[in-house]
Amino acid sequence: MSELRWNPLLGEWVATATHRQERTFLPPADFCPLCPTKEGGFPTEVPESAYDLAVFENRFPSLRPNPPAPAVEGTELYPVLPAQGVCEVVLYSPDHNSTLATEPVEQIYKLVRVWIDRFQELGALDFIDYVFEFENKGEAIGVTLHHPHGQIYAYPFIPPRIQRELDESRSHQARTGRCLVCDIVSEEQRDGRRIIAGNESFVAYIPFFAGYPYEVHIASLRHLQSLSDLSVSEQKGLAELLKMVLVAYDRLFDLSFPYIMAIHQRPTDGSVYDYYHFHIEFYPPLRTATKLKYLAGSETGAGMFINDTLAEEKAKELRAHVSPVVWKESAP
Ligand SMILES: [Zn+2]
Ligand SMILES: [Zn+2]
Ligand SMILES: [Zn+2]
Repeated sequence: MSELRWNPLLGEWVATATHRQERTFLPPADFCPLCPTKEGGFPTEVPESAYDLAVFENRFPSLRPNPPAPAVEGTELYPVLPAQGVCEVVLYSPDHNSTLATEPVEQIYKLVRVWIDRFQELGALDFIDYVFEFENKGEAIGVTLHHPHGQIYAYPFIPPRIQRELDESRSHQARTGRCLVCDIVSEEQRDGRRIIAGNESFVAYIPFFAGYPYEVHIASLRHLQSLSDLSVSEQKGLAELLKMVLVAYDRLFDLSFPYIMAIHQRPTDGSVYDYYHFHIEFYPPLRTATKLKYLAGSETGAGMFINDTLAEEKAKELRAHVSPVVWKESAP
């Protein structure tokens, strides 16, 4: 059973997905459904004995291309829609114990190519208005499978957080004639204290307004709306910068750093969003090696973040762990 239920109080959709209760929860490594099927072993999601990166439809999707009819009838106050969309899983590596941070930069570059491919293919579907690519990493943020993987949700509408960024970007453009993210990037560069790393195509920083202690944003220096606007050298530049940030995260507390990684691109509903500027945001739940930042009363109940750290200090801390990324000769 799954459907979209309208929340008239906030003006947004909620998906019900009761079948997801049965999904695999932290299986032992021998029974990982995302590892390649071993000879004589139980069949996993990935039949091939070896793969590099792999993408397949989520077995427990919140949204699907041919959704069932809603279980309840909508009313004028409470509209209901079938939960139409696409949910995919992206496997970063066949190695169960790997993470994106430990993968070589060449593999991260291949992942950037996969993100572009899925954005284009899913975005071209007429029932898809927004392609959201992301990763949940670590038990601290509720991951149920440890195998290194990301996810893609292709929605039949523009999700509210993106809509807010679009609205703010459009009004900033109308007010100043400039792009909001381009302005944020130049202000961060001018100040410099919150910059984590950068190269000729991208910059990573903890923004002035960060809600999480180690919230890093990555933005392209060129004003672009999606990953598919990147040149090949910019795709490689993004892979490099992702590797630099992820390795610095792991070194910070000498542990595999948990985070949510969210890629914010333009919608794919056919309208023009040339005032928007794509970027990547990381929301790590850790405040210290052992303490979590909880989303409590003010954050969850009122929507105001309380960050008990200074972005300038946390950026300095994280920046100290950044090292340059080197490509192998054989890189494509
Ligand atoms: Zn696995
Ligand atoms: Zn811009
Ligand atoms: Zn964003």
